[in-house]
This record gives sequence, structure tokens and C-alpha cells, in this order.
Amino acid sequence: MPTAASRPTTSKKTRVEPLWIGGRPRPAASGKTFETIDPATGDALAVVAEGGAEDIDAAAKAAAKAADGPWGKYSAGKRARVLFDAARLVRERLDALGRLEALDTGKPVAAARGEISYVADVLEYYAGAATKHFGETIPAGNPGLLFTLREPVGVCGLIVPWNFPAVIAAWKLGPALACGNSVVLKPAQETPLSALALARIFAEAGLPEGALNVVPGPGPGCGDALVAHPLVRKISFTGSTAVGREVMRGAASTMKRVTLELGGKSANVVFDDVEDLDHCVEKSLWSVYDNAGQDCCARSRAIVHKKVYDRFVERFAARARRIVLGPQFRKGVEMGPLISRKQLERVSGYVDIGREEGCELLCGGRAKGALGKGFFFRPAVLTGAKPGMRVFREEIFGPVVCIVPFSTEEEAVARANDSEYGLSGSVWTANAPRAMRMAKAVKTGNLSVNSSSSVYLEAPFGGFKSSGLGRELGMKALENYTETKTVFFSEK
Ligand code: NAD
Repeated sequence: MPTAASRPTTSKKTRVEPLWIGGRPRPAASGKTFETIDPATGDALAVVAEGGAEDIDAAAKAAAKAADGPWGKYSAGKRARVLFDAARLVRERLDALGRLEALDTGKPVAAARGEISYVADVLEYYAGAATKHFGETIPAGNPGLLFTLREPVGVCGLIVPWNFPAVIAAWKLGPALACGNSVVLKPAQETPLSALALARIFAEAGLPEGALNVVPGPGPGCGDALVAHPLVRKISFTGSTAVGREVMRGAASTMKRVTLELGGKSANVVFDDVEDLDHCVEKSLWSVYDNAGQDCCARSRAIVHKKVYDRFVERFAARARRIVLGPQFRKGVEMGPLISRKQLERVSGYVDIGREEGCELLCGGRAKGALGKGFFFRPAVLTGAKPGMRVFREEIFGPVVCIVPFSTEEEAVARANDSEYGLSGSVWTANAPRAMRMAKAVKTGNLSVNSSSSVYLEAPFGGFKSSGLGRELGMKALENYTETKTVFFSEK
């Protein structure tokens, strides 16, 4: 179970954040609530209605009704208008939404604000895309007119994690609504607040009731009910690979379409001809420590040519030790806490495993003193990892990097690809032909050369191997949310 303990609502005075179903707020059918926790203090932040199977059923029915009702009849242009208006409202409320997201996730407020601004960008992109995704006219073998239509899939279940709650919700809401689907969004129990705020914003932007429903709740009992629900035609899931497998199994019996954005253990390959080592170290450092390492694209395996290895490690560890940890609203803070006590235990546990396996810990570990009350973990650097070690193979999802040396390009490729995952990655070199060879050889969904970026709103994003199935973002994402219908008009 996540951070929050389930319990029946006892006090009538406690303000409870309700579910959002059929265009209005409502309590959970069970009357249960849970607390979301401020990760910087460990204190309760809000009490939220805890959705269960009965609420999922109500939300799926409301969504199906919306698809058959006014929402299903909106033209693409009218859907675009709703998305543009929602984006405008998000921008107008940037400060409040940024603060809310910072409190719920623990991330520095500047980062949270940036993410909310990006949510507006995503909604605008898909508002524009609503009128630009269409079928084709095909020269037919028989006399007549042969063409395809792109039609909405129907009710879509959107399941999101806690690391970028509003952003990942927007990645799914934007294309799903642009294509005319209705949705049931299940945020992670650790971070339900921005999703509930987005539901109200969409209602204000003119989205008809039932087109967007938000049901926070646990995975088992709420998320799995969404995956199993017969009215839901598609699941778009972002989360761990282990749960992704369960989602795929659960979706099979009703033949749902699935998109899975899962875990990663991405490689950061640094060649000895890298142009500016200091720049590379700074970017490499944030490519694993950004969002306190709770990033599916984290380059948590740095694979560095032996000629620059010592300098790279020394500069990386020195900078890691200087990273300023602190609560969301303190000036100058570079890194917030981990999301929960469970996550803190998990990350500390992995560092212990690494040491037991024979790695050397150069810096990092559980924060003490005033930060000890929250879930703070100082960025860690491990050296000496061997290919079979758990810290080098498993996704830790915290600020922990393994740095290992290599000698030849072939060895770098072999090490980079020696992973069940393939989500992101970087290659640092001044040699263009080598960069091209590496771009082809590394088995990953996204690769940057001399850069640590992973995600472009305009380009497909997703993973190879156990990192997932399908692609989000860009125009490609619209394919996830439409069915292709072929129509033939006979001339006779
Ligand atoms: P998680 O898999 O534990 O949970 C993700 C979501 O699934 C939550 O909303 C959770 O309540 C729900 N869930 C849990 N069990 C379920 C079940 N049986 N059926 C249906 N839903 C269920 O992941 P998390 O801890 O919230 O997030 C961290 C993971 O997400 C990491 O592995 C990370 O790499 C991954 N992630 C991937 C991407 C990507 O785009 N590839 C982006 C962000 C995070």
C-alpha cells in the first residue's frame, strides 16, 4: 500500500477532497478516505475520498454515457476549443497549481511550477492536434471510393504514477480527449490532488459531464477494477514494470487496447573525446538526480571511458556532495525529499545491497538532522559495480548512480544493452560517426547525443523491452486513442 492509511471518515469537520464522477464531486461509495502526506515533513496534507470498485463502476458508466451523449457529438474543432480553454485556465492558475503539486510531491516549487506550465503546453499541443489527425483515401481495386476514418476508442482508463502526477495525466488526457474519448483517470494515492484540480478546470473549460472522471484510490481494489471493467475499452498505464505486467494480464480478458510506459535503468555513455567534461558531468548528474532520482528516464548507469573515468567520478561526486537538499519552498533548494517513507526505505536498502555486493559508496545516504523528519536522501554515487549486481540491474528509482569504466566502443555498447530495460539514454562524444553508430546500436526508445534530455512534446516517447509498449507524445500518441475504420463506397 502507498503512504496513506485507509480509514473510515470519522469527523464531520474534516474537509475531504471528493472523487470527481459525472461532472460533480462525490464521496467514495464505501465512505473511506485516506491521507496524502507532505514528503518534506511526513505530516498529513489532505484527506481524500478513497475510490474502490463501486466508484470505478460509476465513473465508467458516467464516461460511457458522455460518449453516447453530448461529448460524443462534439466536432473536432469544438473539442479543440475545450482543450485550449483548459490550457488557458491552467496557465492562469500556475502559482496555485504549482504550490499544490510541490506540496503533494515534495519537489522544489520552481520545478513543480515548470511542470504545470508544461501541462498547459501539452494541452495546447493536443488542442491543435484534434483537427489534424485523419484517415486516408486509398486507390481501390474495385470501382468505388475506399477511405479510412479515425474514430475514438470509447472509454479510456488512465492510470498514472506519483513522480510527475500532473504531467503524466496531461500526456494521456490531451490525446484521449482530443480524439473524442471519455476517460476515467486514476491518480496514484500518494499524489491525487493535481488530478482532482484538473477535473474542475476541465469542467470550467466546458467539458461535458462524464467526459472526465477522477477516482483516486489504491492499485488493488481501484486500479485493477478499472483494468477489468467491461465498459473500458483502453488502458493507458504509466508505472512500474511489475504492475505493467499485471495490467496487461488484466486487460486481456476484455481485449482492451493497452499502452504501457514502464521502468528504466538507462545508460549514460561517456567517451574520452567528450568536448567539455565539466558540462557533461553537470548534465549527467542531473540526468540521474533530477526529481530526486524518481524519474523513469534516470541515467542511473554511467558508463565512462577509462581515460576520463577518474576525473569524471571525482567531479561527479564533488558536485553530488554540494547538492542542496530541502523542503519545497526554501530558497536555493536543488533537490526535494523522496515521495514516501516506503520509498526512502527502498532506496536506502538498495545502497546497503550495493555495499554488500562489493561496491564503494563515495557519498550519499539518509539525511539526518532537521531533514530527518521528512523523506530526504542525499544523492549517492556507487563505484565498482559488476554486470550481475542488483544495483546495476534493477531500477532503484532514487538518487543513486553506478559509475563504471569501459575500454572499447564494443564494450560500451554491450554494457549499455545489458539490461532488461530500454527507455532512455545518452552518449557523449565529439566523434559524429561514432555517435551515429551508438545511436543505432543502443537498444532504447529515446537516445540523446551530447545532451541529457529525453522527452519532446512533439516526438514519440516510450520504451523497448521491459520499459513498455506503445508510444506517447507527438502525433503518434493519437494512434493510441483511435480505432481505424475502413469504409468502401461502391460506384454501382
Ligand atoms: P506503480 O506501478 O506502483 O503504480 C503506478 C500506478 O498504478 C498507481 O496509480 C498505482 O495505484 C496503480 N496500480 C498499482 N497496482 C495496480 C494494479 N494491480 N492494477 C492497476 N493499477 C495499479 O508505480 P509508481 O511507484 O507509482 O511509479 C514508479 C514507477 O513508474 C517506476 O517504475 C517508473 O520507472 C515508472 N514510470 C514510468 C514512466 C514512463 O513514462 N515510462 C514515467 C514515470 C514513471
